[in-house]
Amino acid sequence: MNLHEAILAHFQERFGEAPAHVIRAPGRVNLLGEHVDYNDGFVLPIAIDRATWLAFSPSETGQTTLQARDLSEEVSFSPETLSAKTDSAGHPLPGWALYPAGVMWALQDAGLATPALKGVYSSNVPQGSGLSSSAAVEMAFVLAWQTLGGWELSPMQRALLGQKAENNYVGVNCGIMDQFASACGKQDRLLHLDCRSLEWHTLPLPQDVAIVIADTRMRRTLTSGEYNKRRADCEEAVRILSTKLPGIRSLRDVSVEMLDQHASELPEQVEKRARHVVEEIERSVRAIPLLERREMTEFGRLINECHASLRDLYEVSIPELDTMVEIAQALPGCYGARLTGAGFGGCTVNLVERGQADAFSEALSAGYETETGFYPEIYICSASNGAELV
Ligand code: ADP
Ligand code: MG
Repeated sequence: MNLHEAILAHFQERFGEAPAHVIRAPGRVNLLGEHVDYNDGFVLPIAIDRATWLAFSPSETGQTTLQARDLSEEVSFSPETLSAKTDSAGHPLPGWALYPAGVMWALQDAGLATPALKGVYSSNVPQGSGLSSSAAVEMAFVLAWQTLGGWELSPMQRALLGQKAENNYVGVNCGIMDQFASACGKQDRLLHLDCRSLEWHTLPLPQDVAIVIADTRMRRTLTSGEYNKRRADCEEAVRILSTKLPGIRSLRDVSVEMLDQHASELPEQVEKRARHVVEEIERSVRAIPLLERREMTEFGRLINECHASLRDLYEVSIPELDTMVEIAQALPGCYGARLTGAGFGGCTVNLVERGQADAFSEALSAGYETETGFYPEIYICSASNGAELV
């Protein structure tokens, strides 16, 4: 039984009828442009073919009642209980319920109707691996309330409301990329987003290329501290550089030549962080014509350079991620491999000749297990559409 069938059956069992609607909202993986979203750079994600599935109907009770199938938990809440972050009985909302409740809060705050609904949801996006299971949940619920609420927003506007829910209600300081990719994904296309202007377009992803995601199974706690330190170093670089380069607002405005010229004025660590960002933004610009011409070998080289830069300059890798990447880069059919997401654990992303993807995945699993003793989770993915009613 696939997730679509499972969620229909689960809704029927819980509510004694078939759901009125089903939504599929995908996770995402980023191919290039890492740690540049908060520096006004460019990112190149795809929506993956793993998603949150939400089955729902309008509810007559005035309460929104949700069951998280993967957790076997249920809550009810309403607009009146949102600001206290409690359920209808006055108990604090469990962590997982902050995501749908946060979406309701963000929509209410924007003056958009959020009629009560009853729903069941389930996902095959792994949680906390850096594939944005949280954005998938958010985009499913924004679309659910759009379906019942009698209003309509563009996918990007829906993404911004999901980000607002995560930033201001859940309390996670994420950029716009995750919700953007989950909302705006296009089948067989890469997305190219300018994080400053929010302009975006799509680029071809050839049919004979597979995107293979490999989960190291390493989860690091306290990564938000490291993340905040990287952000602070970037801000420090802009502060110092702007005394010599008036008018720069972020590292987006600094070219590699400008950085070379003023490198000696930056503390060593700040200079390394800034160099990653400036060069990564340049790579994500160079990628556009390569992708338009379908030059996967050259594009893969940029992915490999990105990993080296995240490891040596931005220092967000760990030995397990480096091991996974080194094994992958040596395998036949691999155009490029790197850690993806914030780092310190989670997944690598690999661009692989489709005909070699199965053999690649097997060899990568075996190699990683031999080196580390851990059995990795491997997903061969394709680029899918963003959140949609099915
Ligand atoms: P990720 O990188 O996967 O987005 P996050 O920590 O940002 O990791 O989000 C994970 C959280 O999102 C989970 O702890 C849970 O609260 C919520 N979530 C994700 N998937 C589900 C699901 N299938 N059911 C319920 N909650 C989910
Ligand atoms: Mg997340």
